[in-house]
Amino acid sequence: MIYKYSMSKKELSERFEKYLAEKYPEAKCSLDYKDPFQLLTATILSAQCTDKRVNIVTKELFKKYPTPMDMANADYDEMCEVIKSTGIYKNKAKSLISMAKDLTQKHGGIVPDSLKELTALAGVGRKTANVVLGNIYNMPGIVVDTHVKRIMNRLGLADSGDPVKIEKELEVLVDGENHCMWGHRVISFGRDICTAKQPKCAICGVKDVCRYYASL
Ligand code: SF4
Repeated sequence: MIYKYSMSKKELSERFEKYLAEKYPEAKCSLDYKDPFQLLTATILSAQCTDKRVNIVTKELFKKYPTPMDMANADYDEMCEVIKSTGIYKNKAKSLISMAKDLTQKHGGIVPDSLKELTALAGVGRKTANVVLGNIYNMPGIVVDTHVKRIMNRLGLADSGDPVKIEKELEVLVDGENHCMWGHRVISFGRDICTAKQPKCAICGVKDVCRYYASL
């Protein structure tokens, strides 16, 4: 096996992107949502929780609180009961109610379309904001979740545990119009092949350019 880590990060990134596009042409967001408010809510709930679990919980949650106004007026204890199984539910319930209040009071119930306004909402960080910007508004924004962080560091496209540093590095390596799809594809790859424990390097199509694989 010839290790090609001497290639530039741009070349490595392009090679990885091409592989992802061939392997996961139909990748998409695995959270269920029907409008921007639902995606924002589901993404907040997805912290330290599987998307599968979030989708189960949001079925009831969206019935109970269909609009930002309904959620802003939610009873905290009732909200906790509904979202309990997603973990860290006390913080999440506080965040959701505060986020919905911010939306109704400052944005007329409309989910804003800028990183600055989104991250000013209670409980909304850069990761959540970029999920909304990409999936709802077709705007650039690299979502750095646990899969992206792990895979970029293994491959050699990042050398940091800091999501903001990784985001800044990647946003110049991947074209803005591809950010959203790129993110869905990396997540598919992380669930499927470059798993947290025991990555399936033997069947990985970029092992010849992977820093981690070269170190084995
Ligand atoms: S070779 Fe292994 S560690 Fe490297 S990207 Fe592929 S699966 Fe991940």
